[in-house]
Amino acid sequence: MKDQWKDLIDYGVKPMGSRNLYKAGIYLKEIMETICHNVSIYEYPEESWEPISWELSDESGEKIQAYPFLESGSCDIFEGYVRYAGYHRVWDMYVWKRYMLVGEEGEIKAYVTVRGNGNAIPQMLFAKGELPHFLVGAEDEKTLEKAREEGRKLKGSIRTKRDCCSMCRNVSGYLGKGDEKVVLCAHYDTVYSTCGAYDNAAGVAVILETARRIKDYKFHSRVQFLLMDGEEFHLRGSRHQAAQDKENICFVLNVDGVGRENVLEVWSGPESFERKLRAVLDRSHENFQAEYICPPPPGSDHAPYYDKGIDVCMLTFNDQEILHTPEDVYEESKLKNMEKMVKIVIEVLEGLHVIEKV
Ligand SMILES: [Zn+2]
Repeated sequence: MKDQWKDLIDYGVKPMGSRNLYKAGIYLKEIMETICHNVSIYEYPEESWEPISWELSDESGEKIQAYPFLESGSCDIFEGYVRYAGYHRVWDMYVWKRYMLVGEEGEIKAYVTVRGNGNAIPQMLFAKGELPHFLVGAEDEKTLEKAREEGRKLKGSIRTKRDCCSMCRNVSGYLGKGDEKVVLCAHYDTVYSTCGAYDNAAGVAVILETARRIKDYKFHSRVQFLLMDGEEFHLRGSRHQAAQDKENICFVLNVDGVGRENVLEVWSGPESFERKLRAVLDRSHENFQAEYICPPPPGSDHAPYYDKGIDVCMLTFNDQEILHTPEDVYEESKLKNMEKMVKIVIEVLEGLHVIEKV
């Protein structure tokens, strides 16, 4: 597991449509071929977006730590007075304070949202804006407020590259036989600011390791191992995958984020499915503190399946401190929770009678 985790991290920053992600996909397919049958890459065109350069600073030239939202608009250079703009809603999970930069004639030049719960990171925009839109850390609200009160301008730029002919690629393989299937998934793309050791090379390594360990079990239904692209870009990979999948799916188990703390977040639904999971996890041999969230928040690849009426569960050892940051790197100590996660996933599959040890 460690080698694959490391290898995937070594492919570097892997946003949807990037060369690094393409190479990582080929690598994952090769690994999967050594474990599963019917391995394939499901690919289809998606428009990609990448920031080339960006900057945000005070009138005096003092830099503000900021990241463009994924799919932010671009502008070579802009400046404007800071005004309060209301709120910005991200992933139906966070509601963050939003400011706008306004020119001399009152025209809006750019937006700056404050991440209420931490440092500056990239996140999905959702607002389909053609204007530049930054995300800054909670601490920088003071900087913005001060500039607003004192009537000082901020200036900046965001340069981006869009490619409408880029491809989205999901890697898929199977174990077992049967008319019904269980989907075990994890995304292998990252945002542009990180190589994503915790989010989500770790989840991918956990899924592959699970496949390896249960290969010789008895299967009561088929299991599809699915490594998704484009999760960070509003679930592009899983939305397409879920829409075109006409098979009978018992449930979807998604692993997204294996961080450092001992709190296992269980995002699942409907409640009837959460009760089944709770019964299994209450009997777990692993040591963790479970935190259940129902209905499941929409911020990962289980969501499009849940919207289709399928039972879903996402497991994560959440780690907001390093999420989408350059600090999300290889760290030996993270392997402990990855090992734990593999065992928990196997317990869930056994407990829900998908597999049986022979
Ligand atoms: Zn993730």
